[in-house]
Order: sequence, then structure tokens, then C-alpha cells
Amino acid sequence: MPVLVMKFGGTSVATLDRIRRAAKRVGVEVSKGYDVIVIVSAMAGKTNELVGYVNETSPLYDAREYDAVVSSGENVTAGLMALTLQEMDVPARSWQGWQVPLITTSAHSAARIEDIPTDNINTKFAEGMRVAVVAGFQGISPDGRITTLGRGGSDTTAVAFAAAFEAERCDIYTDVDGVYTTDPRIASKARKLDKIAFEEMLELASLGAKVLQTRSVELAMRYNVKLRVLSSFEEQSDDAGTLVCAEEEIMESNVVSGIAYSRDEAKMTLVSVADRPGIAAAIFGPLSDAGVNVDMIIQNIAEEGRTDMTFSCPTDQVKRAEKALLDARTNGEINYHDLIADTDVAKISAVGIGMRSQSGVAAKMFKTLSDEGVNIKVIATSEIKISVLVDRKYMELAVQALHDVFELDKTA
Ligand code: ADP
Ligand code: ASP
Ligand code: MG
Repeated sequence: MPVLVMKFGGTSVATLDRIRRAAKRVGVEVSKGYDVIVIVSAMAGKTNELVGYVNETSPLYDAREYDAVVSSGENVTAGLMALTLQEMDVPARSWQGWQVPLITTSAHSAARIEDIPTDNINTKFAEGMRVAVVAGFQGISPDGRITTLGRGGSDTTAVAFAAAFEAERCDIYTDVDGVYTTDPRIASKARKLDKIAFEEMLELASLGAKVLQTRSVELAMRYNVKLRVLSSFEEQSDDAGTLVCAEEEIMESNVVSGIAYSRDEAKMTLVSVADRPGIAAAIFGPLSDAGVNVDMIIQNIAEEGRTDMTFSCPTDQVKRAEKALLDARTNGEINYHDLIADTDVAKISAVGIGMRSQSGVAAKMFKTLSDEGVNIKVIATSEIKISVLVDRKYMELAVQALHDVFELDKTA
């Protein structure tokens, strides 16, 4: 029988009522003749609560134990979803990641999926089971420890299952009815897109649009998974939501197709480091070893052999970054006068494949922010995106102003 993957995010399984509603939707697909793999997230807010427990217990925690704790939310919803389906007379059972087994790397809290053997679940399908409910976000490392795939990782579990089982489609059910030109929660003029290209979705996701985890888009692109984002709260037709697809499938699009933001950024400046060959490696090596995800980097012009180095990273990694740099200074690997952490910044990005062929987007973006009195602290660009760091208090204003100036509320 054809296989369908249906993923339900945290808000879609936040209460027993919502789990029932999601299960009904699964039942509809089963009655159409699909074998369904349901991927569930933890109930809304659960993972944050678990992360909070870990941070309170151990600020520089052992990532293996972090994973043991934060993966547990999904176990609850997987079991409850299977029970709910059974109550509806749909033959179903739950799987935790290790039972599949969903094998990952050992990079705890940011593990990558290595393999999903299909035999276990396929044997059950062959015996008449119609729904395999799998706990999202979690897996098992080669040395037998529980791993997690990074925040929002259930999306990636879903796409990986769709690829492994050659599913007809991977439907991501969430609390918005598709991918918008920007987060509809902060810009009321945001417009739902019927289709978005993989490359654009990849950039939007990696720049903060959390509707899909970045890695899930990467996998969908690589394995050509038919990926759709839609609402679990509304009745859905067969063409509802947003299809994430190849560029060639989209007829017209704006030069800028979306604005993304990332609220929890920090700007770190190392004041007065020696300007010598190897200094960047000496700074960013220890940061990388400490698991700090450095994003933007600027090195200032040197004066009298010394320079300032600025980089950005997520705010929750500031403590880790400070410790890594302090240790490197104590060990004599680097020398700096001061380390200044500005934890009140946000990153705003304009994304669009149209930028490849049209110039002037950056100029327009900078002019718009200047007209709004928003100071730009750091800039980074690539072929299809421009990102700026600004004071967090201007984040929503900046997103709305850019959405307006690039006329994203209108179709191309
Ligand atoms: P889930 O719990 O279902 O995984 P998430 O909270 O992870 O849901 O992702 C959905 C949220 O993503 C929406 O509620 C919305 O606020 C946010 N979001 C950010 N950018 C966008 C965008 N461009 N389009 C749609 N939603 C977006
Ligand atoms: N529950 C996990 C999180 O909140 C995974 C997910 O929802 O995708 O990050
Ligand atoms: Mg999510």
C-alpha cells in the first residue's frame, strides 16, 4: 500500500482533544488506503520545560544527559497517539527512536540521521497494522545513547521517514496554514505562499523561520520528498497549505520572497586581539570545539598589530562561548583585552532566488532600515540572502518595514 507521512507539531498535540482531532485526520488517510507513518512532537511547551530543568540543574550540561531528558516529551505523545488510534479501531502502535532504530551520529543535541532501517515497521504493516506512530526528534547513537536532532527536529524525522519509506508525500501539520512571506504572528500583512522553492525555504529556515527545521528542508531537497506544510486546525483540501518544491515548478516569484528573523542572537566582540596569521583559527577553533554555532563574523582593520573580532551566536550559547574564550586565554592560545557580549540583538534577513539576477536589493534594504532609524550592527550576504543584526527592540518594526518595501503582500 502507498505510504504517507503525517507529522504533528507541538500545538497540534497539545491536549488530548487535539490528539483526537489529529488522529481523526490520520483515520481519513487510512480509509483512503494509505499506510501511515505518524511523527509526533512533544506537547506544546513540554520541550522548553525539560530544557529549563536541565539548565537549572547544570548550566554547562553533559549533552548526553540533556538528550536523555529532552527527548522524553515525544515518548508521551507517541504512546497517546497510538492509544487514541486504537480507540478509533485503527490498528496502530508506537515506536520510540531507538526501537525503529533511527540511527544517528553521536553529536548530542544536534545529531544527524545516519540510517532508518525499514524492516521492523514494514513487517508490522504487512501484518495488518495501518499506522506506525514514531516519536519525533530522537534517535540512538552507534554507542547506544539517546540522541536528539536539535530544536524543531521532528520535522527532520518526518522527512527522513518519508525518504526511507518512499512515501507519496510528507505532510507537516502545524499551527499555521502554510509557509508565509514572513512570520504571520509578527506581520499581519504576511501572505501565504502556495509554493516555495527548496533553496528559499532552506535559507528562510536557517535564518530563523522555525516553521520547518533547516535539516528537514535539506533532506527533502536531496531525496526529492514531496513536502507540504498545512494547518491541523482547519479542514484541508488535497491542495491546501504550501508545497515546498523545486525552483522549476514555480512560475513567478518576487525578487525577495520572504523575510526571516531570529530573535535570540548575541553579538560578541573580542577587543584587541593580535593581528597575526592563525588568529581566526585560534579563536574559532575552541568555539567550535565547545559546540558554539558561530554565524556572522567581522574582523576590523588592524591598528598597531591589534584588531577587534566580532561574531554572532545564539544567546543561549553565550556562556559556553565566554568559557571557551576565557580558557583559550588562560592557556595562552589567544590574548585579548576584553570580551563584550551584546545579548539584545536580532537578525533580520531578506531571502529570494530573484536576487541572483537583480541588483539593488541590499541598497533598498539598508535605506529602508535607515529611514526607520534602525542602526545596522553587522551585515552578511550570500547569493540569495542579505542578513543584518539590529537591536532587538527594532526587530518587528524592521520585519514589517522590509515586508512593505519589497511588496511581499502582493503576488509577482
Ligand atoms: P510546530 O510546533 O508545529 O512544529 P513551530 O512553532 O515549530 O510549529 O512552527 C510554526 C510557527 O512558525 C508558526 O506558528 C509561526 O509563528 C512560525 N513562523 C515563522 N516564520 C514563518 C513563516 N515564514 N511562515 C509560517 N510560519 C512561520
Ligand atoms: N519537541 C522538540 C522541540 O520542541 C522537537 C519538535 O517539536 O520538532 O524542539
Ligand atoms: Mg517545529
